[in-house]
Amino acid sequence: MDKEKQFPDFKTLCDIAKLYASCMNDYLYVLDLTQDVYFITENALKRFALPGSMFSDTRNNFRAVVHPDDFDMLIADLDEVSSGKKDEHNLKYRWIGLDGYFVWINCRGQLLRTPGGTPHLMVGCINEIGNSQTAADNISGLLGESSLHERVRQMMPSLRNAMFMRLGIDDFKIVNERHGTDYGDFVLREVADCIQRTLGPRQYVYRIVSDEFMVLDLNDSNYNEMNRLYHRIRTEVDSLVARENYKAIYTISAGLVPLANLENKQYDYTSYSEAMKLSEFAMSQAKARGRNQLYSFRREDYSAFLRRRYLNSCLSQAVSDNFNGFELNFQPLVATNGELLYAAEALLRFRTRADELVSPVEFIPLLEESSLIIPVGRWIIRNALTFCKKMRERHPDFRVSINLSYIQLLKTSLFDDIKNALDELQLPPDCLITELTESGHLEDSAAVRSVWSKLKGIGVGIALDDFGKGYSNLTNIGNLRPSIIKIDRSFTLKALENAYEFDLLLHIIKMVHSLGLGLVVEGIETSDELARINLLEPDYIQGYYYSKPCTQNEFMNKFQGK
Ligand code: C2E
Ligand code: MG
Ligand code: MG
Repeated sequence: MDKEKQFPDFKTLCDIAKLYASCMNDYLYVLDLTQDVYFITENALKRFALPGSMFSDTRNNFRAVVHPDDFDMLIADLDEVSSGKKDEHNLKYRWIGLDGYFVWINCRGQLLRTPGGTPHLMVGCINEIGNSQTAADNISGLLGESSLHERVRQMMPSLRNAMFMRLGIDDFKIVNERHGTDYGDFVLREVADCIQRTLGPRQYVYRIVSDEFMVLDLNDSNYNEMNRLYHRIRTEVDSLVARENYKAIYTISAGLVPLANLENKQYDYTSYSEAMKLSEFAMSQAKARGRNQLYSFRREDYSAFLRRRYLNSCLSQAVSDNFNGFELNFQPLVATNGELLYAAEALLRFRTRADELVSPVEFIPLLEESSLIIPVGRWIIRNALTFCKKMRERHPDFRVSINLSYIQLLKTSLFDDIKNALDELQLPPDCLITELTESGHLEDSAAVRSVWSKLKGIGVGIALDDFGKGYSNLTNIGNLRPSIIKIDRSFTLKALENAYEFDLLLHIIKMVHSLGLGLVVEGIETSDELARINLLEPDYIQGYYYSKPCTQNEFMNKFQGK
């Protein structure tokens, strides 16, 4: 192509580019091929590590900004243009951003020749490839996540307080499943409208992913103002559902995260990606807490969430690594008639690879939630019984007591697991006691009762644990028909402090004895406590007074002779 066109000079073109720059996201440039001077519109300086808006010695300056793998390709292409071999430049390559990350750009340019045909100038435009979908999405009619990112990036330096409110439609999947994706799209569009109608100046909404929206507030709004905004949106969504005659019923949950609070430095994050991550957490909290509500970000909730996530991964790693990190400790139950060793309770311990000993109060619920308690539970049965067998060599009547979780009862063949382990180790069933805590509702279930009665049927001891702690129901003594009741330490302490509770414990013990059941008092630490509790004539005592839970070897050294 050698169309000869008369064009304005370098400076005029730069001035024109400056005029256009204010109304576009792209970066306009002019390259003077004869003088080796490069001009790019100012907005590029906020994004890329460029030496300035105008610079000479273009090759060396480009070397500093272009990805090393792309540099030769760029120079080769520019050489072709400047030598007049071709008139168009169109290349995708990478420039380094101010944040130190490489950004893919699409760089296009047109060669301008002198009237004599000599290559003279190149004018062109650069746009970010990853940022190209800034157009409105056609379902909701809203801008997408990349536009939000862009706006935050532009505003960040001048922000004092800003808020992210991430909104998600509850049960949107069900709307799609029951009413089809066309109706789903309709709901998305209408909800987007609901949100948009409620917004004031300097509040913007974007569609982030499928059924999630983000409101960006740049008004220095406080929590109460954002809460009111959320309730306005909720009311709008409620009336939308009603207007549609309840064809589909859905609500909206939201998570609120201060994006920047630079004044009081209350939040130690300033990056967009961090704020996005926290907004996702905040919204999932709103859903987890019952949906149709606003949850406002709290650092301590997030730390607890991270802690749980960390422990969950430690626990599953340990399970797949042959239970490495788990250990059983044993604590004696001592008979009050002669201080004889009656049994030992197996108490699970967990140590992370970073050598942190985690309390069972913290990790047992995590094992239950993730169902990892199923393999771990089997491991406990086997190891506790193996220990019992060892102890019985010198102590033929020795028993072990293991704690069971409802998940094990409901989701595994617990009876078979126990029976098989007893048979393989050639142990009699009465060497095992299984402890169950009251749950408030599960003990009445047919599945639980059936496992219980089968275990009892072969002679395994059944203990009702944690009696007197929180929820306790005397009817469970009837439902579960335990052979042993274990009084929790919290009740023991109350009985030791207070005459009324002491009397109450006395009557519970009498009742338990009149039913022919055994009773363990847990949590005795001192000889004085022991003397007072012994007045109530319990059958067994468990507590630090006799021993803290200890390792198998420690236990054998301490108790094998007793
Ligand atoms: P639990 O079954 O009631 O176990 C008794 C708890 O009281 C143990 O705490 C024990 O160390 C503690 N304890 C015993 N005597 C004293 C005392 O004199 N003073 C004080 N301050 N504490 C005493 P641990 O080992 O931290 O276990 C806590 C709970 O975790 C257990 O309560 C049990 O509900 C659960 N747990 C422990 N191991 C297992 C297990 O293997 N499986 C299941 N499902 N739960 C377990
Ligand atoms: Mg227990
Ligand atoms: Mg207990």
